[in-house]
Amino acid sequence: MDLTRRNTFGMKVSCACYVEYDSLEDLFSLDLDGLPQPVFHMGAGSNLLFTRDWPGTVLHSCIKFLRPMGLEEDEVLVEVGAGAVFDSFVEWACSRGLWGAENLSLIPGEVGAAAVQNIGAYGVEAGDIIVRVNCFDRETREMVTFENADCRYGYRSSFFKEEGKGRYIITSVLFRLSRKYSPKLEYGGIRAALGGRQPMLPDDVRRAVSEIRRAKLPDPSETGSAGSFFKNPVISREHFERIEAEAGPDVRVPHFDTPEGVKVPAAWMIERCGLKGAQLGGAAVYDKQPLVIVNLTGQAAPEEVLALEQRIIAAVKERFGVELHPEVEHI
Ligand SMILES: Cc1cc2nc3c(=O)[nH]c(=O)nc-3n(C[C@H](O)[C@H](O)[C@H](O)COP(=O)(O)OP(=O)(O)OC[C@H]3O[C@@H](n4cnc5c(N)ncnc54)[C@H](O)[C@@H]3O)c2cc1C
Repeated sequence: MDLTRRNTFGMKVSCACYVEYDSLEDLFSLDLDGLPQPVFHMGAGSNLLFTRDWPGTVLHSCIKFLRPMGLEEDEVLVEVGAGAVFDSFVEWACSRGLWGAENLSLIPGEVGAAAVQNIGAYGVEAGDIIVRVNCFDRETREMVTFENADCRYGYRSSFFKEEGKGRYIITSVLFRLSRKYSPKLEYGGIRAALGGRQPMLPDDVRRAVSEIRRAKLPDPSETGSAGSFFKNPVISREHFERIEAEAGPDVRVPHFDTPEGVKVPAAWMIERCGLKGAQLGGAAVYDKQPLVIVNLTGQAAPEEVLALEQRIIAAVKERFGVELHPEVEHI
């Protein structure tokens, strides 16, 4: 089965077997061990770099329900099927005046993966609004529920990405939204995009976030990518001060203080290495946001993306002494 249209990078790869299920009963009835191995569960393929054909089975959820579960004072609980498009849930919430998900507008992918990745943007992470995650345990073939604390959410990380990887298939996620006016406008130019106006509704923030994203990020339907290719590194304060000293007094090195150290945007370092727009075969560093590697020609081969990735890692290491790590999962 051809996977070219099932990964947003547009890598021309295939898998031996592709299986979709659209209900829990369907999933329970599958003999996963009897399918060509290994079995990989994917979402919309928007955080993946397929480096070669997948020799086994690709499994995909089409469980797409959205079910409001009732009110708790100002809060609304909503359960959403893992195969639903995450942005459809955000749009639904915003259109009903419910706060909490609006800063996550327009992030590609599905609800199950959002809970795996702890997707984040503009100061909000999925983990902030997730109450619990329902899963099918591949080992015991039973349903298991993870409360938010059990999911161990961190920066683009979770239990499902680490110890639980491969074992748990997320079937649905319970979100908590709020009817109380609670916009989060501190990050990433949202206030500027609002033109100084105070947002009245979640939809106002959604529009502002969408505007910023459209200006900065490639539209997967036009240009292949998997979004931010690298994680932003966190370094020690001494290391940061060395980078600042080397940059000189006229350059402001962007950074954010975190409990673990100083986070420096990888995009800034890649640009300072002169790699913004750099091309290698069909792959290129996106000219509007150097954190993104794009399939510029639509014909990029996995080897070209991997070679460009290595070139960026080596250049940043040599110039700043910082090791970049990919955010995109290599398959
Ligand atoms: C243009 C662009 C912009 C982006 N912007 C952002 C951003 O602002 N913030 C951000 O955080 N990310 C961003 N991303 C990355 C991507 O959108 C997210 O990582 C998203 O959650 C991936 O969802 P997916 O459905 O495509 O999952 P996939 O990429 O298919 O899979 C991701 C992981 O989730 C696992 N998985 C998928 N479904 C399930 C399931 N039901 N059960 C168990 N495991 C599962 C897969 O095995 C894999 O490990 C961007 C990507 C693109 C292309």
